[in-house]
Amino acid sequence: MQIPKILLSLLVLSLLFTVPQVFARGGKVKDPNGVAPDRYIYYPGSEELGKDEIRLIALGTGMPAARRSQAATCWLVELGNGDKFLFDLGTGANANMAALMIPFDFLTKVFLSHLHTDHWGDLPGLWAGGWTAGRTVSLEIYGPSGAREDMGTKYAVEHFLKAYNWDNMTRLANLPSQPGKINVHEFDYKGENQVIYDENGVTIKTWPAIHAGDGSVSMALYWKGMKVVIGGDTKPNTWYIKYAKDADIAIHEAFLTPEQLVTMYGQSPQSALGVGTIVHTPPQAFGKIMSTIKPKHAIAYHFLNESDTRDQMFEYIRETYDGPLTLAEDNLVWNITKDNIKVRKIVSDDEAWSVPGPNKPQRPDHTVPDQLSKEMHAGQWDISEVTADMIKEFKKKYKMK
Ligand SMILES: [Zn+2]
Ligand SMILES: [Zn+2]
Repeated sequence: MQIPKILLSLLVLSLLFTVPQVFARGGKVKDPNGVAPDRYIYYPGSEELGKDEIRLIALGTGMPAARRSQAATCWLVELGNGDKFLFDLGTGANANMAALMIPFDFLTKVFLSHLHTDHWGDLPGLWAGGWTAGRTVSLEIYGPSGAREDMGTKYAVEHFLKAYNWDNMTRLANLPSQPGKINVHEFDYKGENQVIYDENGVTIKTWPAIHAGDGSVSMALYWKGMKVVIGGDTKPNTWYIKYAKDADIAIHEAFLTPEQLVTMYGQSPQSALGVGTIVHTPPQAFGKIMSTIKPKHAIAYHFLNESDTRDQMFEYIRETYDGPLTLAEDNLVWNITKDNIKVRKIVSDDEAWSVPGPNKPQRPDHTVPDQLSKEMHAGQWDISEVTADMIKEFKKKYKMK
């Protein structure tokens, strides 16, 4: 069959008009030493947020068995008013967080969707890591209650501190005490569209999620007429359909398929079917949810996102949803305004150091005594002759007695 000439020229014309846009994505470079006006990359700390702009960063998007390319669930939401919120704090996420080089004093509000380790397993790192690296204030943890007292966030954090008692006591003996404190704000997991946070023009609401047990929630952040929904872990449920509507960004899990759980994650077919379809949301169901609530942009997470899986996940989701979509991976950033949502990759330093914030580092206040006994001190080998000069110089520099 011959293609009519008019169609052919229309095709050539359309190519002429689309190709330059593709090349323009990185900005046109006009001379060999020129600087591109635009790059589709985000370099942390290099851009000021607009006063009506939200920056959402994926610090973890994968599974409980974290891997180098994908930590477990963690989202950072930064607002143009300076507020920052962590939603979940899954295993491995701290390394991605560190690469953003945000002072720990700005990373103190943590909202937990539920208490699986892939959603709060990096609390030890943020707690002790931030404490040793210049944080001056306590952590504030918001999390759901459970069906019983021992299944709630308050119990979990209290016993977390008990489990890490050795860590806590030995740091309290040598560091300022305030940054080691954790304040827990437990809320009712059954609350429907309940406000759990309302400060500085930011409202955060929760509703129940249906997951492996009672005490899992989804959350939505509202600010300046925009709405970011963080689904947590859940199977499809009516609350999400009702309360995630009109979201600018709707994050929801799209779990590994039962087949992938067997072949890539080492589960038995019996476990895989239950985990993949009863405790979590399969990709086709994710698509159905999104085509029902119609967010401006949908984000699918909680699967191993790589060349082996991506096409299949995408195909399954596209069976039921054809709207704007990101298959989440770690170190992606979404810039959100009322009119636009832009997705880019983050390029950051693997060897990033923690950076100081505006507050002065605090002195140790010795709220607990020295945790070394006389017997241990007695075994000390005196090396003062090799360190004396260094200590003297240090004291002189910082005017210490
Ligand atoms: Zn879970
Ligand atoms: Zn999970």
